[in-house]
Amino acid sequence: MSSETDFTLSIENLTVSFDGFKAVDDLNLYIDKNELHVVIGPNGAGKTTVLDLICGKTKSTSGSIKFLNKELTKMSEHEIVRAGVGRKFQTPSIYENLSVFENLEISYPKGRGVVGSLFFKRTDTVLNKVYEIAKEIMLFDALETEAGLLSHGQKQWLEIGMLLIQDPQLLMLDEPVAGMSVKEREQTAELLNRISEGRSVLVIEHDMDFVARIAHKVTVLHQGKILAAGNMQKVQNDPKVIEVYLGH
Ligand code: ADP
Ligand code: MG
Repeated sequence: MSSETDFTLSIENLTVSFDGFKAVDDLNLYIDKNELHVVIGPNGAGKTTVLDLICGKTKSTSGSIKFLNKELTKMSEHEIVRAGVGRKFQTPSIYENLSVFENLEISYPKGRGVVGSLFFKRTDTVLNKVYEIAKEIMLFDALETEAGLLSHGQKQWLEIGMLLIQDPQLLMLDEPVAGMSVKEREQTAELLNRISEGRSVLVIEHDMDFVARIAHKVTVLHQGKILAAGNMQKVQNDPKVIEVYLGH
C-alpha cells in the first residue's frame, strides 16, 4: 500500500489569497525523505510564500500541508518547529556578539532561548553535538570566533548549523547562496548534498549553476502555479520554462 503518506511532505491543493490575489494557487508538491527539492521561478512567483505557508507564518486559504502525517495548516509556528521543520530565512538570525560555539550551544533543543541557556547544564552530549555540527558546517576551527566576525558565507553556514543541531526532518532554505563567493557556493552545494541524507531539504534559489549541483527534483513556480516539474535536465529544456524564466 503506497500513498502520499509515504512522503515526508505532501502539499495538496494549497491556495492562499491576499485580498483576492492568489499568491499560491492550487499547489501540489511532494517531497521524499533524502530528497533535495529546489523551487525556482521569477520574482513574485510565490516561492517564499510557499515556505511561509509550510512554517505557519502565513495561514492558507484552503488546501493541505501534511508533514510526517501531521496537518501543518492547523498548527502554530512554534508547534511546526517542534514537529521537525527548520527554516532558514534570507538574512541570518545569529547572535553576532556570541561565539560560533555559543550560537550552536544555544540552539541545542534543550537550551533553546537565551534565558533557558542560563540554567542549561553543558553535558558531553551537547558538547559532542556542537563539535559534530561545527565540523559539518566547516566552522570547527572558528568555534571560539565571535559570530559577527565571520564572513557572509560563514554566517549563513552557522545559521544552517543552528537549524541542524535541532535535527529537523525537513529543512527549508530561501536563497542560501545569495551574496556568497564562488568558492563558498561550491562548499554550500557540498554541504547541502551531505545534509539531505536522512532528511528532506527544500531550497529556493536563482543561481542555476548552484541548482544544477544540488537538485534531485526541480519545481518551477509561476504566478502561484506549477509551470514545470521534474529533474534539472527536463525542466531546463522545457520551452515554457525557457520563455518565462530561463530565457532572461
Ligand atoms: P517570490 O518569493 O517567488 O519572489 P513571494 O512569495 O515573495 O514571491 O510573493 C508572491 C506574491 O505574493 C507577490 O506578489 C507578493 O507581493 C505577494 N505577497 C506575499 N506575501 C504577502 C502578504 N503577506 N500579503 C500580501 N501579499 C503578499
Ligand atoms: Mg522570495
